[in-house]
Amino acid sequence: MYKVYVGIDDTDSKSGMCTTYVTTLIINELKHFGFNIEGYPRLIRLNPFVKFKTRGNGATSFRLNLKSKDEYEEVKSFILKRIKELSQLQDDETNPAVVFYDGEINENLSSFSIEVIKNIVTIKDAHELANKISAEFFKFKKGRGIIGALAAIGCPRNDNTYELLAYRTPENYGKKRQIDDDSVFRMDMKMYPQTFDNIDGKYIAIEPHTPCPILYGIRGESPEAVLGAHKMVKTYEPVERFVVFETNQHTDMHLIKIDHIADMDKYKCYIVEGVVKRSPYIIEGGHIIFIIEDDSGQIPCAAYEPTKEFRDTVKELTSGDLLRVYGGIGEKGTLNIEKIEIIKLTRISKTLNPLCECGKRMKSAGSGKGFKCIKCGRKLKEDSKEVIDIKRKIKEGFYEVPPSARRHLSKPLVRIQM
Ligand code: ATP
Repeated sequence: MYKVYVGIDDTDSKSGMCTTYVTTLIINELKHFGFNIEGYPRLIRLNPFVKFKTRGNGATSFRLNLKSKDEYEEVKSFILKRIKELSQLQDDETNPAVVFYDGEINENLSSFSIEVIKNIVTIKDAHELANKISAEFFKFKKGRGIIGALAAIGCPRNDNTYELLAYRTPENYGKKRQIDDDSVFRMDMKMYPQTFDNIDGKYIAIEPHTPCPILYGIRGESPEAVLGAHKMVKTYEPVERFVVFETNQHTDMHLIKIDHIADMDKYKCYIVEGVVKRSPYIIEGGHIIFIIEDDSGQIPCAAYEPTKEFRDTVKELTSGDLLRVYGGIGEKGTLNIEKIEIIKLTRISKTLNPLCECGKRMKSAGSGKGFKCIKCGRKLKEDSKEVIDIKRKIKEGFYEVPPSARRHLSKPLVRIQM
């Protein structure tokens, strides 16, 4: 047997197509010709802050078990022909690449993948790695996809989830998706949390809102769970085909744990602790901002409008609360929150004039002169003010954004607590 990993990326554009679909078509065709694909194809999400991304910064890979090395040339030219036909090459932003690799997933490859998920790398970095590990690559136009294609082959498997993608027939592309919402609610009732992020409040969350070929995607803990859930979903338009991908989605693999706020950079995602310095305030558009600090520095954190009810929690934070924040830093240098853990809520209190023995609240007797009861005339000293704790409306613990605002890589609390 001769094994070859195939990695594919950057085939689509904002107006159409999808690398998962291109991969699915190629896999189905290879299977039809009798080739053996081992296990599930992989859908690997990369750094969400990469400016070249079309949508979710995903790349794909799969493993082919060939009978002999001779079959390799045949398969390779077929895959390249199909990538050329299916990619949106007319779009300036589409720069596909395919990587073929017949070696082992070694440390060089897996640490490159982690870099691509957590950091920004260059096409040159990818070339160097491909040459070092003797991977064969084919670039179309700028061939930027070489970065994602290598990362999708080498991504370590510490934690996995699965996504079943159901595709539309081409005549329905761009039209409103015809999914029976009730069937999705029933599916969720049965399958959650083995499948998750199926619904978001009153709405279903399995359908994308782009003109891509995907009708819906069901995310879950195992292939069995997503396949079982798929059987329960009814649609009023045909499903052309479906596929199960093994993914690194919802694993928090993109997050870098750091000890100092000052060590954070733009375009990366972190887990960081800090104390709320400035209480939350609302800015135009309904976004909520607050600042956290530690000994090294401070950073503004944002719960943007799409995070909906998550903002109700965030706006109850106050200066002095100790938090662990999970999120990424975008162009403006603000930490875009994915979830927070409130480690310690600060005590907030208010002071009142003392209560007189006769039951009446006393009045100030003048600056520095203590208090006087206007009913019975009793007097008390200046330091006899009453301090009352104000009950906080939020509790310590984890809070997360709703499914519709969740990043592909972000681990939902249900996966943390399972
Ligand atoms: P879709 O999710 O629909 O497949 P996409 O959002 O994945 O689209 P691509 O069209 O694949 O977007 O474009 C992303 C490009 O950015 C690819 O060429 C990929 O190789 C490159 N890329 C991905 N991660 C990084 C990174 N960390 N540093 C630099 N380039 C990256």
